[in-house]
Amino acid sequence: MILETKKLVKEFGKLLATNNVSFSVNEGDIHAIIGPNGAGKSTFFNLITGYHFPNSGKVFFKDKEITKLPPYRRCRLGITRSFQITSIYPKLTVYDSILMALLSRQKATLNLFSSAEKYFREEVWGILEDVGLADQAHVNGDSISHGDKKRLELAVTLGTKPELLLLDEPTCGMSPEETESIMIMIKNLVDKKGLTILFTEHDMGVVFGIARRISVLHQGSLIADGTPEEVRASEEVQKVYLGGAA
Ligand code: ADP
Ligand code: MG
Repeated sequence: MILETKKLVKEFGKLLATNNVSFSVNEGDIHAIIGPNGAGKSTFFNLITGYHFPNSGKVFFKDKEITKLPPYRRCRLGITRSFQITSIYPKLTVYDSILMALLSRQKATLNLFSSAEKYFREEVWGILEDVGLADQAHVNGDSISHGDKKRLELAVTLGTKPELLLLDEPTCGMSPEETESIMIMIKNLVDKKGLTILFTEHDMGVVFGIARRISVLHQGSLIADGTPEEVRASEEVQKVYLGGAA
């Protein structure tokens, strides 16, 4: 078990966005959190990454309590969420963006930039290969396609050497072809690097195609948790999804 939450509660005024959620993520898993719009998925992510603190309850990462740690401390422990596309430097090349991520991990300074470049060169190329961006290495961040920006976002995130990677709607805005190729890429990363992935996604094709475990949130509460088959068979889940669509 790499991550565990115990009775997490998050209130926004009178709204209970996270209602007593206890759940866990196994090491090396691809774990999806699903639920209708407003179910509390992003809030729950924020409690795990430290962008919000819970009103009550606890969060553990590898058995260490992290409930009140700020995001940068969690990041150093190995919990990283993918950054928003807006955080990609438009005027930096794809190569340099990844180099920057590696430098930030090492807390290296800019005066070290030239020698650091040599030191990290192999690692940058390795990441470029992993995310399928090697042929775009010297193109500026603002000149690549939407799908490639998502890849770059992941590459930058990988530069921080995460153990647990959180992705909030990783295929948002992508074409079906881009979606499929990025999901295959994520799967390969899990196998190759021993990463653990926790993600939210509204596209059920993607969720059932890649997740090995699924947790379902509804109005802030966990209503189902299990294998894709178990979740698919849950009456409560069917009620929430079919009921919502009807
Ligand atoms: P999801 O990601 O599943 O769509 P969210 O976690 O974004 O759901 O939102 C859950 C509920 O909490 C929603 O009703 C939303 O309006 C509310 N909410 C989210 N963030 C805040 C906030 N910062 N302040 C007040 N209400 C919020
Ligand atoms: Mg959300």
